Amino acid sequence: MSPAFYESVLGYFDRAASYTDLDSGLLDQIKYCNSVYRIRYPVRRDDGSVEVIEAYRAEHSYHRLPVKGGIRYSSHVDQDEIMALAALMTFKCAIAGLPFGGGKGGVKINPSEYSPSEIERLTRRYAFELMRKNFIGPFIDVPAPDMGTGEKEMAFIADTYKAVEKDSPAAFACVTGKPLSLHGIPGRKEATGYGVFIGIRECLKHEEDLSPAGLTAGIKGKKVVIQGTGNVGYHAARFLADAGAVIVGLGASRDGIYNPDGIDLEKAMLYRAKNKCFSGFPDAESFDNPQEILYQPCDILIPAAMENAINETNSERIRASIIAEAANGPVSPAAEAVLISKGRLILPDIYLNSGGVTVSYFEWLKNLNHVSFERMNRRYEINSNEKIAEILERLTDAHIAPSDRSFLSSGPTELDYVNSALEETMVFSYNLLRRKKAEKNLPDLRTAGYLIALEKLAENYITSGIFP
Ligand code: NAD
Repeated sequence: MSPAFYESVLGYFDRAASYTDLDSGLLDQIKYCNSVYRIRYPVRRDDGSVEVIEAYRAEHSYHRLPVKGGIRYSSHVDQDEIMALAALMTFKCAIAGLPFGGGKGGVKINPSEYSPSEIERLTRRYAFELMRKNFIGPFIDVPAPDMGTGEKEMAFIADTYKAVEKDSPAAFACVTGKPLSLHGIPGRKEATGYGVFIGIRECLKHEEDLSPAGLTAGIKGKKVVIQGTGNVGYHAARFLADAGAVIVGLGASRDGIYNPDGIDLEKAMLYRAKNKCFSGFPDAESFDNPQEILYQPCDILIPAAMENAINETNSERIRASIIAEAANGPVSPAAEAVLISKGRLILPDIYLNSGGVTVSYFEWLKNLNHVSFERMNRRYEINSNEKIAEILERLTDAHIAPSDRSFLSSGPTELDYVNSALEETMVFSYNLLRRKKAEKNLPDLRTAGYLIALEKLAENYITSGIFP
């Protein structure tokens, strides 16, 4: 049997810690969850009955404040899962250079079984319960979307917080992933998927890393299977397809489809929205067992749904050369050992899905500063581009084509700033992991990621004086 999720994360931590000679007390402080809040609260259903909801918020590390991490709505939520996810957030933020500790929240419900007004009531009450114990606030703990939640839930949380903290100028920085109309930021919804794409693209630039996995460099023509076509999986697939990868398989919670020659992503998503399933989609083989999609031939497998999807019972059947962990914890430690022994390359969750929290950082900064990134720079960029174009024309006696001139004169939008800063973070972090792996002769990129994170955390704890 696979170890519990939190235990797996602690195991990965211990493996990385074995490459350091840090004080064992300091390692203990970095490793474990600092606080967990378990809540049970009543919510009235539309039929008049009352249901008691079980929910959590875990705060893994206070070396930086606020702590940051999503809120998950799923019937699988339990304390172990939320603590594991909070720990991953701490390490993810450290690798990406974000000034946050890690946190995570969860409400144990299947959101598809609740009406929109029930979701609103149980979300507002959850936010209020977090406020009651100081488990939310712009400088304390800032949630965001995760599985089963999105902009709508974040809007309810922001509105509830603002209603109570009405005089706080930072109130809207209490949560990120909000709609644009409520102080959100462009690009947040697709940020995790975009980061997954950038991470895979960066990995595919390094021929020498790919040869043990039997792959050539470059994204064009690479065959990709995605398990879980929600926010993260769908957006990762879209950016990969736009860059020339071939989407050959799509998996959902109840079924999946595969075609080695490629699937039209948008047509398949429309088909699923209309029919509530992928099965029966023309020009692809359908599987009733959602697990089957994991075992189909492809170059890159992207698990983008639940933890432990690839475990000791099925790791031998994985045929992909790269396993790109868009989900949190999709590969169990035993499965990882099997895959690594076969030369497969794993892009670890603590690096690969950090795009969401990176853009959340930009949203949080924007909410604190009360100014958009575009407002401060765009006109300056346009003016200076036009000046450079004029100088070039004068010096070369040539004319810049109207299409090039209109590109130069349009200037960057806030989305351009967000996406370029996200790209920079993902590219920089990948190379950090690569270098650490080579420098310490580590077995894989996950160990490199954990080692980078725990060294940074150790330094923070020591220099800040928090650790005695
Ligand atoms: P989501 O709710 O938008 O989508 C999840 C999808 O997975 C749904 O379409 C669901 O039907 C599908 N699914 C569930 N169980 C499945 C199964 N057994 N097989 C195949 N598909 C299944 O959630 P999301 O926000 O896309 O999150 C997906 C994963 O990415 C989670 O592990 C989450 O923690 C992680 N993640 C999300 C974000 C974010 O910004 N949303 C950031 C980092 C990591």
